[in-house]
This record gives sequence, C-alpha cells and structure tokens, in this order.
Amino acid sequence: MSAAAERVPEAAAAAPRCRFCSAPLSEVFVDLGMSPLCESFLPADALNRMEPFYPLLVWVCGRCFLVQLQEYVSPAEIFTEYAYFSSYSTSWLKHARDYTDMAASRFGLGAGSRVVEIASNDGYLLQYFVEKGVPVLGIEPAANVAKAAVERGVPTVVRFFGRETAGDVVREHGPADLIVGNNVLAHVPALNDFVEGMQILLAPGGVITMEFPHLLRLMQETQFDTIYHEHYSYLSLLAVEQVFGAHGLRLFDVEELRSHGGSLRIYGCHAGGPHETTERIGDLREREDAAGLKELETYTSFGERVRALKREVLAFLLDAREAGKTVVGYGAAAKGVTLVNYCGIRQDLVEYVADLSEHKQGLYMPGSRIPVYSPDRIAETAPDYLLILAWNLKDEIMAQMAHVRELGTGFVTPVPHIQVHE
Ligand SMILES: [Zn+2]
Repeated sequence: MSAAAERVPEAAAAAPRCRFCSAPLSEVFVDLGMSPLCESFLPADALNRMEPFYPLLVWVCGRCFLVQLQEYVSPAEIFTEYAYFSSYSTSWLKHARDYTDMAASRFGLGAGSRVVEIASNDGYLLQYFVEKGVPVLGIEPAANVAKAAVERGVPTVVRFFGRETAGDVVREHGPADLIVGNNVLAHVPALNDFVEGMQILLAPGGVITMEFPHLLRLMQETQFDTIYHEHYSYLSLLAVEQVFGAHGLRLFDVEELRSHGGSLRIYGCHAGGPHETTERIGDLREREDAAGLKELETYTSFGERVRALKREVLAFLLDAREAGKTVVGYGAAAKGVTLVNYCGIRQDLVEYVADLSEHKQGLYMPGSRIPVYSPDRIAETAPDYLLILAWNLKDEIMAQMAHVRELGTGFVTPVPHIQVHE
C-alpha cells in the first residue's frame, strides 16, 4: 500500500476523536473522497448551480475499533424533513409484521405493556402492535413522516432521541418494556447520549432490539457503497457490546438477517436484567474474532480492496465503451450515489439510471448528474448491460426486468466483484 494513497487530509487530521471512547482518530478505514449528500437529487433547473460536497473519510478507532465517519453534516440537516416513507416498501412491511409477531410472543407483550420505537418513521412497524392492542409510542424527528404515523393511529413524539427525550418520555408515559430501533443506531452521531437514553427509558425487565448493517459483511463483501453521510457508524457486535456495556446494558441475543446486505438484530437488557445470554452471542463473538475484528490491520487493509474494486468497475465500463456497448444503471438509491461518485462515473459511461420511485424520475443523480428515468425506458432503449446499483435487491430486480434479457441486455452487479449474470 502506498503512503500517498492513505495520506490523511490535514484539516480532518487536526481534531477528530472517537464518538464512543474519545481516543484520537488516526487510522483510516477507507477514504472515498468528496461526495454529495445521497438524497440530494437535482431538478433540471438546478443543473447550473454548484452542489455541496463533503468528505467520505471513514476512520477506525485504534482503541475500541468503532468504524466511523465524522459528523460532517448534522442530523438536523438530513433527518428533519425526510423523504423516505417506510410503508412504501412491501418487503419491509412484511419484515416489520413478522418481527412484531415474534416480539409479542417471545416477550409476552399485551395491553399492560408499552413499546417505544425510536425513529418510528411513518408508523409502519408500530401499527402492528396497535393491532394487537399493545400501547405504543413513536419517536421520530421528521415531522412530515411523523404526521403520517399519527394519521394511522400511532402516537408519535417529533424529536431526536437521547438522554433528554428519554427523561421526558419516562415522566409523561412511563418506562418501555420494549424499545425498538431499526436502522437508527448507525445514524446517530451522539452515540453515548443515545444509548444512555435507552438505559433511562428501559423498564427493569425490559428488552431493547436494534437492527443495523453488520460491519463484518461490509468488509467481507467489500460493500463500500453502503458508506454515506447518513451512516455515522459502521457497527460490529464487538463495538456495540462495548458501547452498551459502558451504559449499564448487556446484549443477550443476536440474529443475523439478510436485510441491507447482511444485518444484525441485537437484543439488549439492563446489565442485571433477567434475560439469559444465548449461545448465538458467543458464536458470533468468536466469528468476529476469527475474522480479525480485534486487529487494526484487518481494518486498515480494507481501503486497498475498495480501490481495487473501483479499478475493476471502471475497467468493465471502459471496455464496454471501447467495444461500442451501452450501459445503464438500475437503482437511484444511496448506494448508487456513493458508487458512481467514488468511481468518477459520468453519463459517458452510464447513460442513465432507472428507478421505480416516481419522486426521483426526471431528476439527476447528485454529483454525477446522470439522469433518472422510469424502468420502462430500459425496454425502449435495449442497452447491452444493466448495471444493478441496488445489488441488495438484485433477485427482485432481475425477476422484474426478465423481459429485457430477451432484447439482449446482460445483468451486471458491481459488489463484491463485477459479475455479469448469464
Ligand atoms: Zn473508540
């Protein structure tokens, strides 16, 4: 690895400290250069204006091994007017319903219990507890999605979560028997304040469950494109056990899920809580150890694998272009924005990106300004290759686009390696 490739920009090197243990950060996990916010799609009338870019420089703490981005952009800028409504995804709704069935029966939740969800979005999950007659409360900072939750009968407090919110909720509503947080732990810059808040809110025998993408899968499958500014931390069992432990909480169970390229669902309780620790905790701890998650070198060698994958993606696109073939992308989501910007891909290599979301069609990708169209355009233009940027949904997309295969279009996924699906 060349020293130049890992050189740390001076401004960034000046001050950063680990958001959990406060050790100075000096080890780079990966540097993806400058990138725009992944949800800042541009209308045509904004194309003459400049866009804000922020560093996507990811550190690993040499003391606790928490992998993290600095808070380049505040949560208030990203999450207070949020465009993502969870209820739009049918597979995510099923995931939520299955979870509520499991949690209600495993932890005996009923009319005398209270479930609190942090980052409850539009009430997509809590509605299933409401159906079961379990009292619920949502906590959600985005007023527009919280309004949709209240309209479907899910009481929701419009606030960010932390110590202060937790204290107020306990005073007004009482403690929580179950605290749920899906895809929120990684999105919190003030990690200690957040976890301390859960300790305050949790009833003595209560349970916390949280889901987040698993860092081990990110590393093993070079999923560098799951890195973007909304994701402040990249979490392993090792890191989360330390953070919970520091705030009087203990993990007693863990499940590995397929969502978001491989996620963990952790189960926490008070350190002295009644829940017995399962074997799955020990098993995963051992597998993370065996994969080297307690050795700095495992983390610092990740960057070169990402740079190698960038060259692989570009070699494919350049070869295709040289051979006179056309490539279009599929999936104008955060992953696609990171991959396209980091690799420096522009419209000369990927003509357009197709996306099912009508909110994005007619707009332009942030940074690269590649236009976004309806997937209908793929059958009309019959490209040689469809580069599936939303590779976590590749089975769904390949089934849905099976008809364009007959037109001669080949399906390609970029992660963990460029692969053409015959
Ligand atoms: Zn640390």
